[in-house]
Amino acid sequence: MQLLGHQQLVMGGAQRPPVVRRCARLCVQCTVAGVETEKIDGRTIRRSLNQTGRYTRQPSNNTESQQLMDTHGVGYSSSGLVAQMRENGNVWQQGEVTVKLAKAYGYCWGVERAVRMAYEARNSFPDRNMFITNEIIHNPEVNERLRELDINIVEETENKGKDYSNIQKGDVVIFPAFGATAQEMKYFRDKGVQMVDTTCPWVAKVWNSVDTYTKKNSTSVIHGKYSHEETVATASFASDYIIVKDLKEAQYLCDYIMFGGSKEEFMAKFKNAVSAGFDPETMLVKVGLANQTTMLKGETEQIGKMLEQTMMRKYGPDKLQEHFIVMDTICDATQERQDALYDITADPKAIDLMIVVGGFNSSNTSHLQEIAEHKGIPSYWVDSAARIDVAGNKVLHKLAYGELKETSGWLPAGPLTIGVTSGASTPDTRRWRR
Ligand code: SF4
Repeated sequence: MQLLGHQQLVMGGAQRPPVVRRCARLCVQCTVAGVETEKIDGRTIRRSLNQTGRYTRQPSNNTESQQLMDTHGVGYSSSGLVAQMRENGNVWQQGEVTVKLAKAYGYCWGVERAVRMAYEARNSFPDRNMFITNEIIHNPEVNERLRELDINIVEETENKGKDYSNIQKGDVVIFPAFGATAQEMKYFRDKGVQMVDTTCPWVAKVWNSVDTYTKKNSTSVIHGKYSHEETVATASFASDYIIVKDLKEAQYLCDYIMFGGSKEEFMAKFKNAVSAGFDPETMLVKVGLANQTTMLKGETEQIGKMLEQTMMRKYGPDKLQEHFIVMDTICDATQERQDALYDITADPKAIDLMIVVGGFNSSNTSHLQEIAEHKGIPSYWVDSAARIDVAGNKVLHKLAYGELKETSGWLPAGPLTIGVTSGASTPDTRRWRR
């Protein structure tokens, strides 16, 4: 059985000696499956894909595929309630209920592009076995439509990791919107499969930034969640890296850079979030900031400022450029959805409650929910209409920090104003059968 996705690899910075490293998740299969240690240069691997003649990374804008997406309700809406609201200034009114739709909501272009490329791939290779190395986006219903097109989604299990043993030369393999690791790309390049790379260009931009940091012999500080597929992929293209998930972890990191501390405590704290062989005493002298594209924009910016100030205080303003690099890699789509939510909730008294729609494993949707919660607005994150029990006036919803909760009597009597938004992997419509 061939297991990938948690491989070890060796990468060397320009001057540093090569070190053995692993992906961000040091989980069972790394140690049990005995995946071979392998030297990989992510940038070279990415460049080599083009030369195979079996690699596509642009949509073909095939109209048949577009029509099928419309039929399946997995694209932008051109009819239905959401489309009507758009034409009516993002407002819908019925009796005493007013619904306000955020100005920017739902599918971002990167996600729509990825789904379109998957539909186009099925159209171009109707008879071939087809696989996606992960969910193409974090939306259960869209992934279900892809399965109906006989596209197999290779899911990762806690004990076994990913099993690619069914994939053979000549099959078609799709890399999802949030990318694939350098090891996966190399594996499929060498396997002789047809590769359809739907990685969002914004994600690829982050990979370019960690490439730059590696070349400058700097450690990548990645603002993200160490187990998120996009961050795992980004980390695979970095040389030395540390992943911080929030301001608290960033502050801890900055304090360590500034004042030092217990190395054991540091390593215990970041045990799942650093490159193998990471040494906080030697690898935090030069750092560059990267991010998971769906994190809160303000938080990424704040982490950048914290690192900048720390390096300035430690090494002096004239040496700052030698010790800290930042490249603008925050995705506009994520930012726009967050800004639109701030906008719609600017006067919290004007909105009685929020409905946030998006997959329960969608990071950017969790941040939308987080913003509403922080503002003290009752907010219900649902991944489909099926979570709402209209007759019983109950809703099963998720909180920003992960808890699933059932709330009774969630919809008060009117007059009522409801704000609605949705995450970047949520299509406008759902017209398919259940
Ligand atoms: S949220 Fe941004 S980075 Fe992610 S797929 Fe959409 S456009 Fe790309």
